Amino acid sequence: MEPSAPRVDPAAPLVILSPHLDDAVWSCFSLLARERDVLVATVFAGIPGGEPGWWDAQCGITDSAAHVRDRRSEDAAVLRSLGRAAVHLDLLDGQYREKPVPPDEIVRALAERVPAVRHVYSPGGIGHPDHALVRDAGALLRERGVPVTVYTDYCYSTREGWPTFVRPDGRPEADEQWRASIGRLVGDRLTQPRVVRLTDDESGRKLEAMRGYVTQFSNIEAEEPNWQVDGTGSADPEKRAVEVFYDLSAA
Ligand SMILES: [Zn+2]
Repeated sequence: MEPSAPRVDPAAPLVILSPHLDDAVWSCFSLLARERDVLVATVFAGIPGGEPGWWDAQCGITDSAAHVRDRRSEDAAVLRSLGRAAVHLDLLDGQYREKPVPPDEIVRALAERVPAVRHVYSPGGIGHPDHALVRDAGALLRERGVPVTVYTDYCYSTREGWPTFVRPDGRPEADEQWRASIGRLVGDRLTQPRVVRLTDDESGRKLEAMRGYVTQFSNIEAEEPNWQVDGTGSADPEKRAVEVFYDLSAA
């Protein structure tokens, strides 16, 4: 029988569940910089057939299969440069499929490739339907006994600014955006996140890692100022140095 979740083993890797081929670096660089034995499992890294998706089209891509292969290579190269392993699951990115992927299918796909974990970091599901699916997979892992921490989805997480519970000069609109995505999962802890600040050195290395996603970086930096309330991109030094987490207790 297929396992219903990876087994928990203190000697196994810490696993970052990344919805797409870049999210772990944008949202969880502090883990990549600081923790021992980290593995990044990208969920929607399947090779598509057929027509390019909408984001690909916007990036000028005509062959999505070749493009995802390139994205897998750049992800593996960046993570290798950080001394980390990359695992690419074969589920299709939202732009290449018709229907959502059930969280149970995500958990099974993970367990097939990553049989043991010591801890899982999963996204809060802010700002993108694929991120919400992986958030729900994280919730399911927690129900099945895996220790889970929720990370907030940079740079969707700052489109409304920082929440008031991250910075005193934050915005209530951001509080609402976060509450709508993570509130059900973290409950009362929403207003008590664990805020991590990268050192200047780490923040510089984060920028270098972001730039390593060659097919994504300039497109994201061109697009995000249209969406971020402060009009800056995700490379903004003030924003990229802050990463926000919620450690969940066992279910
Ligand atoms: Zn993403």
